[in-house]
Amino acid sequence: MPDLPNMHDAEPIPDAARGEIERLLHSGDLFRYTASEGSPVALLEEEFAAWMGKRFALAVSSCSAALFLSLKALGLPRDARVMIPAFTFAAVPSSIVHADCVPVLCEVDDSYRIDMADFEARLDDVDAVMISHMRGHTSDMDAILRLAAARDIPVIEDAAHSLGTRWNGQLVGTLGAVGCFSFQSYKMLNGGEGGILLTDDADLIARAVILSGAYEHNWKKHPVLHEAFAKWQNKLPLYNLRMSNLSAAVIRPQLDELDRRVANGRRNHDHVADLLRRSPWIDVPSALPKEERAPDSLQFSLTGMDDASVDAFVEVARTMGVTIQVFGRSTDNARAFWNWEFLGPAPDLPKTRQMLSRACDCRLPARLTLEDCDAVADVILSAIDHVMQQPVQATA
Ligand SMILES: *Cc1c(COP(=O)(O)O)cnc(C)c1O
Repeated sequence: MPDLPNMHDAEPIPDAARGEIERLLHSGDLFRYTASEGSPVALLEEEFAAWMGKRFALAVSSCSAALFLSLKALGLPRDARVMIPAFTFAAVPSSIVHADCVPVLCEVDDSYRIDMADFEARLDDVDAVMISHMRGHTSDMDAILRLAAARDIPVIEDAAHSLGTRWNGQLVGTLGAVGCFSFQSYKMLNGGEGGILLTDDADLIARAVILSGAYEHNWKKHPVLHEAFAKWQNKLPLYNLRMSNLSAAVIRPQLDELDRRVANGRRNHDHVADLLRRSPWIDVPSALPKEERAPDSLQFSLTGMDDASVDAFVEVARTMGVTIQVFGRSTDNARAFWNWEFLGPAPDLPKTRQMLSRACDCRLPARLTLEDCDAVADVILSAIDHVMQQPVQATA
């Protein structure tokens, strides 16, 4: 069997970051609002907004902070109900709790996407929706935006894992009232930690900027219509969720890598997906027709296997060198909604529960070669074969 690639490490930070970091270390100018203009954080906001084709961006300490600020900037009152898909990361309902709002979970189907019938059934009873494009899988955004607009319900996009994904040719994270992205190390742009919020709404960005900690007249350093700010001065709390110049200096040169990472991530994902689809025990849900994905990981579902076989498969793959987690079977998985005990008793969501009990998660970084990808697919297919003791279809 060929050597397996390192599937965990991030890509090196581009050398272009070094000069700027050296300059920051030398000057000690790490705070975004010290310089009167052109701080690395301000430049990142400008460049990211331009790349995404949006008017305004606000860089913050994490995507969770961006989600929290979105809810606050939308003016949602205490106990407002915010719908999220039940398949997401625990930080997403947590951001809603942090904003004094109440998460409402909706069902997700076997394709990892929002069950639109359940979404619509719950919609009259919520004040906002936060569409978490979990692992970059996009739900039917046309229907979601239409149904929400008809009720005047704002749509926040959690695009933490969707940077570069397109819906109908338009970048995911630019479709709703606000889009939020993550720069945590496992995402497409790696700042260690960090996040960014995007919107075309001048009043909303003004509130978010102040809430994020632009105290006194620091909002004047944002290229936003200043009328929008003056009326919010001193009217909003300062949560201090700003980004440091060091993080921005690490992230900015990676914007030049984004097209390559998106293209190679998709190439790798689709290559392995095609190989895995030869197994009768594996279902790799297809992208929706309007969706063009930018994956940096692979999800596939085991079909026709009992719990013991699923667990045995994970163990065999692990001994062969590939780490796979089944969301609903690994202990304390933060993406299994019944582990979100901080929300109280878990709701009854049988479709999502069933999906999570068979859905496998495997890292597949964009830097892997197709040869690396073949080796990974080989392990997965051999592990299944070993457990089910039935040879998978021979290579075509
Ligand atoms: C990573 C991630 C988050 C959280 O991002 P942070 O920057 O770590 O707060 C939220 N939602 C999804 C879908 C994610 O993948």
